[in-house]
Amino acid sequence: MQLQEDQMKLDLREIIEIPGASLPFRCTLDTARLDFPSVVRYNAAPEAEGLVQNTAGILSLTGTLRADMICVCDRCAREYACRKELPLRVTLAANLQDDDGEDVFPLEGNFLDLDDVLETCFILDMEAKHLCREDCKGLCDKCGANLNDGPCGCKATTDPRLAVLEQLLDK
Ligand SMILES: [Zn+2]
Ligand SMILES: [Zn+2]
Repeated sequence: MQLQEDQMKLDLREIIEIPGASLPFRCTLDTARLDFPSVVRYNAAPEAEGLVQNTAGILSLTGTLRADMICVCDRCAREYACRKELPLRVTLAANLQDDDGEDVFPLEGNFLDLDDVLETCFILDMEAKHLCREDCKGLCDKCGANLNDGPCGCKATTDPRLAVLEQLLDK
């Protein structure tokens, strides 16, 4: 495992002191560390590629993270194919004393823990709701039918609280 860990540390010695210099990277994420309740499985391990650039002494990472997976819809619980193309744009800092913004990642000396940056970007993105489609109609809260398949036949106009009241009044 030691070898694997070394590979994921990006050596920035070539660019860290040279404004204008850049270093490309390509990295495959370990799906064993990307376990989310909304992901049924990954069709392939998520991959990222991009560039670390030194712009006037400030290091930034830009690129794209691609994922291909089967997710569960948060609203109707149906499984669906989900492809993501997540743009990456983060700032790298040698120390975080006066800048601890969300998109700033620390350096360990001249090295960047690329795995950590990419996993964090992916995890932040996964906190959003996952819907099988933008206008997913969800499930009927009475009979549980998937309303994307059409109306279920329940009376849509009856407020469940009113229904309880009616039952009480009948007795
Ligand atoms: Zn849905
Ligand atoms: Zn229903």
